Formats: sequence, structure tokens, C-alpha cells
Amino acid sequence: MDGTRKIEGCINCGEVREIAAHGLCFKCYRREDRAKGRQLIGVDRHNPGIRREHKKMFRGFSSVMTGLSDLGVSKTDVLAIRGVIDPYLDPIAKYLAAPSGQVDAAVNGEQELRNSSQCTDEQDLNGE
Ligand SMILES: [Zn+2]
Repeated sequence: MDGTRKIEGCINCGEVREIAAHGLCFKCYRREDRAKGRQLIGVDRHNPGIRREHKKMFRGFSSVMTGLSDLGVSKTDVLAIRGVIDPYLDPIAKYLAAPSGQVDAAVNGEQELRNSSQCTDEQDLNGE
């Protein structure tokens, strides 16, 4: 018999078993360990929400929308083009308004982006 392990009531499941560590039986200890591992995989503490490549994509998207606006492209065509470039926007899609029937929101989001970015090309083009 292996007498090195304590036999106690597990603080998690209450079963009287061999205790692995921290008052947990092997079953609960292992489960907690896996949960912790999963958490660590899911949380990347060194990644800001919007990364540099995202910023670049926002700028690209903003340029496209600005360009379409300058060209006076119709709503239908804007939506069509939006549909075409949509897959490219996948990494930043969660930061953008839903593309279907949400043009106003998308344009507003785009304006906010444009206002907050340092890019002033558009002003030069407009001669404002
Ligand atoms: Zn347990």
C-alpha cells in the first residue's frame, strides 16, 4: 500500500479519496488543471485588442469607403463592394458594424476611424 498520499474529503466534490494537491482529489485536481490550461490559452495578455496589422486594415477599409464616397458610388454598389472585400476584413470584422443592411452604421464607424487616424490624404483630395 502506498501510504504517502493523504486520504481526505476532496474540497471540491466531497468524495473521500487520495488527495492530489490543494485539498482536491485527483479527478478534481486534474480537471482544474485542464481548466487553467484552457484559460491560459484563451487569454493572451500581451495582445492588445487592436493590433498593428488591424490598424492597417482599418486604414485600408477606411480608404476604400472614403474612395467610394468620393466617387459617389451608389449604396447598392457600395454594399456589393463591401461584400467583395468582406473576407479580407475578417480579422477586424468584430470591430466593424454588421455589413448586411447596416450601411449607415458602417459609414459612421468609418468616419470615426477617419477622424481618429492621422491620415489627412482625404482632406487634400477634397481641397478642404
Ligand atoms: Zn474531487
